[in-house]
Amino acid sequence: MSGKNKIIRFGPSGNSLSFYENGHNHSFEAPAWLYDKGLNAYEYSFGRGVSLKEETATLIRAEAEKYDIAVSVHAPYYINLVHEDEEKLEKNRGYFIESLRAAGFLGATRVVFHPGATKTDRKLDLELAKKNLKMIINMKDNAGFNDIALCPETMGKMKQLGDLVEVMELCLVDERIIPTIDFGHLHTRGLGAINGREDYAKILDIMENMIGYERTKNMHVHFSKIEYTTGGEKKHVTFADEGYGPEFYPLAELIWERKLTPTIICESKGTMAEDALAMKNMYGSVSQQ
Ligand SMILES: [Zn+2]
Repeated sequence: MSGKNKIIRFGPSGNSLSFYENGHNHSFEAPAWLYDKGLNAYEYSFGRGVSLKEETATLIRAEAEKYDIAVSVHAPYYINLVHEDEEKLEKNRGYFIESLRAAGFLGATRVVFHPGATKTDRKLDLELAKKNLKMIINMKDNAGFNDIALCPETMGKMKQLGDLVEVMELCLVDERIIPTIDFGHLHTRGLGAINGREDYAKILDIMENMIGYERTKNMHVHFSKIEYTTGGEKKHVTFADEGYGPEFYPLAELIWERKLTPTIICESKGTMAEDALAMKNMYGSVSQQ
């Protein structure tokens, strides 16, 4: 399975405001900066499109290898596997290939993506997404990206494909697929569903039952506190914003007890590196008890 995941890792999605405030301008400066903070993961987002030059990616890769930072990539948000239209599918294949190519340049072993938007019948939508994902996996292997894992994400809005079980179903398409569990999204989609240890345990149990221990152990995690409405996710907030969930601490306890080694990416608004570090410290305090 995609390497670098034998230990638990923490890091930000993109660069914190403090990264720029400290005089840094370029993402290739991020690995050293993260290392100094005590972090060891970094997600590069192509949410609005893949626009990274090979030259820059190669610089980031060299620094990430030097400082042992595991890099992951977030594919464009407009990816949608719920399509039958061949022209739209062709476009989606293109978005995956661009993301994989960039991941290759960056030395990333994981590509996170949003599964798509539901139409009328969720079950049929899921079947369609599974069929298309299978095709994407074949394309990925034929293009020589065998060692990069695709990671479908749990989504925060009701209309998006990607509740927990749907993401597990997508993982069953191929044993190399690794789930991205966005706990903030699961929280908002259940309108405040995660309120403590038991809620986290339930999620981890469903995962283990459906995709087994190994993949649960090596899951990719997105974690941030999120504001929501009845439609689900509204916006990401920070750990300093009060009154929002979910809390990381009970999850840290379960990760320790169940000997899980996820890569945990923080998507807080502006303070992602700081909040990733807060999570690392919480995990540290749990594991020393
Ligand atoms: Zn995402």
